[in-house]
Amino acid sequence: MTTADQTQQQRLDSENTAAYVQVAVPVPMRRVFDYLPVRKAELAIGARVKVPFGHRRVIGYVVGHSTTTQVSAEQLKAITAVTDAQPLWPDSLWRLLLWSATYYQHPLGEVLAHAAPIALRQGQAPAYQQTKQLELTPAGEICDLTELKGAPQQQRLLARVKREPLAVSALAAEDLRPAAVKALKDKGLIRETQVMPEFAAWTASLAEEPHQLNPQQAVAVAAINTGLAEQNAQTWLVEGVTGSGKTEVYLQIMHKVLLRGQQVLVMVPEIGLTPQTVQRFRNRFDVPVIVLHSGLSDNERLLGWLQARDGHAAIVLGTRSAIFTPLANPGLIIIDEEHDASFKQQDGFRYNARDLAIKRAHLENFAVVLGSATPSLESLANVRAGRYQLVQLANRAGQGQPVKNLLVDLKQQRLQQGLSETLIALMTKHLSAGNQVLLFLNRRGYASALICHECGWVSECQRCHANMTVHQQTHTLQCHHCGAQRRLPRQCGGCGSTQLITRGLGTEQLEETMQHLFPDYKAIRIDRDSTRRKGQLEDYLTAVNRGEYQILLGTQMLAKGHHFPEVTLVALLDVDGALYSSDFRAPERLAQLYIQVAGRAGRAAKKGTVVLQTHHPEHPLIQELINNGYQNFALSALEERAQAMLPPYAAMALLRAEADDAVAAEALLMAMADRLQQQTDVAVIGPMPAILARRAGRYRFQLLLHATERKALHRVLHQFLPQFETLPEGRKARWSLDIDPQDFS
Ligand code: ADP
Ligand code: ZN
Ligand code: ZN
Repeated sequence: MTTADQTQQQRLDSENTAAYVQVAVPVPMRRVFDYLPVRKAELAIGARVKVPFGHRRVIGYVVGHSTTTQVSAEQLKAITAVTDAQPLWPDSLWRLLLWSATYYQHPLGEVLAHAAPIALRQGQAPAYQQTKQLELTPAGEICDLTELKGAPQQQRLLARVKREPLAVSALAAEDLRPAAVKALKDKGLIRETQVMPEFAAWTASLAEEPHQLNPQQAVAVAAINTGLAEQNAQTWLVEGVTGSGKTEVYLQIMHKVLLRGQQVLVMVPEIGLTPQTVQRFRNRFDVPVIVLHSGLSDNERLLGWLQARDGHAAIVLGTRSAIFTPLANPGLIIIDEEHDASFKQQDGFRYNARDLAIKRAHLENFAVVLGSATPSLESLANVRAGRYQLVQLANRAGQGQPVKNLLVDLKQQRLQQGLSETLIALMTKHLSAGNQVLLFLNRRGYASALICHECGWVSECQRCHANMTVHQQTHTLQCHHCGAQRRLPRQCGGCGSTQLITRGLGTEQLEETMQHLFPDYKAIRIDRDSTRRKGQLEDYLTAVNRGEYQILLGTQMLAKGHHFPEVTLVALLDVDGALYSSDFRAPERLAQLYIQVAGRAGRAAKKGTVVLQTHHPEHPLIQELINNGYQNFALSALEERAQAMLPPYAAMALLRAEADDAVAAEALLMAMADRLQQQTDVAVIGPMPAILARRAGRYRFQLLLHATERKALHRVLHQFLPQFETLPEGRKARWSLDIDPQDFS
């Protein structure tokens, strides 16, 4: 028997003697609940059950058995129904889930529900279902495609179905229209049938010739392959400048893992799961790849989960929640852009998928490869401590060249709508040479506020401690925090004056300015507003690379991942805010952003220039970054963190409270702070108002816990959280806990 079998056997044994079943229920309480079993047998740990809870029936998860209970006989209820005969998760993943609940001190029932695909959360069986597919009728088989030349859509669809039956769920992905389906059905050429999905065994065959590695890539691949051959839990950090060919390194080490018949999980930031990314993996290997993206239906997601669990998928590609995908035979996890903030879940169960990946690899004994042009300070500290191994790619692969950095001191310059004369002159030069220019401005909308020139009235959100943004295109004021919207007023809300002015340049306004300053060139704005329609972003990116636009302007969306060979000038217009942020991670984020935006320039044969406009060119962070690069910046930032006893050299937890009434929110945290007072090895800071002190009508406060020893922090929380759950102050305010908080807003 393997160890897994033994654990399974123990699970089955224990339930025959126990009188009570311990069930984790998805509610915000850090405890399990006892129930009477329906019948004695078949209650595996990790199986789902339906139980009465309050006035509801909910899906819970069996986590243990016991011979005694604290619950009185009248109050004790019985399990209503047993949903699974087997544990829902493989044993290794089960252990990760238990560990996560302990580490993040989050209610186990909520952790388990979070980790399960929605279909399973709702009680569906973890089983393959029939799917609908389109296939040819006898008439369709003999129908000649030329008969449909008047209807190109129908012709394309018929050609596709003639090649092989087509899953109905794949229609959209292949850009085939439902109208064409209906037309061909009406003509009796195709029909819809129900089929069970079938999976063939896969082998790791290549679908395209890999690149010839350059020397640095070859060293990296060889080093990681040697480590992988040992088949133990090692973590590698691939630090490679933008365009250095990290993806090629991933692909080549993946090949070795796939050849062993093992699966690879690839995690990318939310913004990075683009069709291009997916295509790079699909093009390289002739193996089943599943993509866990937000557009999947509940059933499609369940299907992917099952394929991964049963080993039918060789490569699983997803964002942070993919970390909870069961894998029959995992060999490697790759986390691209490991520094990206989207790996941290920011509400509910606040886990960090990167950190969980490393824990998971330890539990299941396989390797993790982290990659970034700008590694997080946490990962760099782990390298220095000898826990991770570092490989570096310092040069661009292919034709890319290093960029030239230029600081523009805004203090000595006349500005035109946020653009310095130096920048305008440079833009003219690059544009007239036939190149593209990219402007980065992380503020969507037209302006960040509307102000009355006569009385000073400001367009504040009524429900948030924040200004409403002016959106000229939709003629609205919008709150970016709570989503509130109203019509753009013509008159001041205070004095009725019509002299309203705007403050704070946004991307809409920048787009307008471009038409004004550079009428001979076409500008394209890329931000959340301009790319709402599905596929719009891809369309724009294609148009940009076809040369239809010369000026690209936009937010974060432009900063990450995309390849713009004709862009030679990149400018960051306004990032000074980060220099004065109260968030200790702001400098790190700014440095990462700078390098990322800069990485959009000079990706091809042409040399790139990066312009940073700032009022503070003398700022040490900026100087270090521009003159000595990210690595040196990171070293000095780590020194500062060490001296200030900040993470990664200390552990933090953040207790947040919010309520309709500011006093109630603060009082709850005050009560918690009172109880924590005695603890000498954990410093308690606050309560204090959150940076966004009010959001959607609720007042927000924070209490920061800080310890030099992570163990002390966890011990104290473990001891006090059950008390916190029953504080009388908790009736008027809601609270949450964030371990290793990334965001203090
Ligand atoms: P990164 O992920 O580090 O930003 P990419 O993997 O996207 O870099 O590589 C940048 C470009 O260089 C891509 O177009 C890629 O195809 C190309 N490339 C990567 N490795 C090589 C190589 N060894 N030889 C030639 N071209 C390469
Ligand atoms: Zn608001
Ligand atoms: Zn006014």
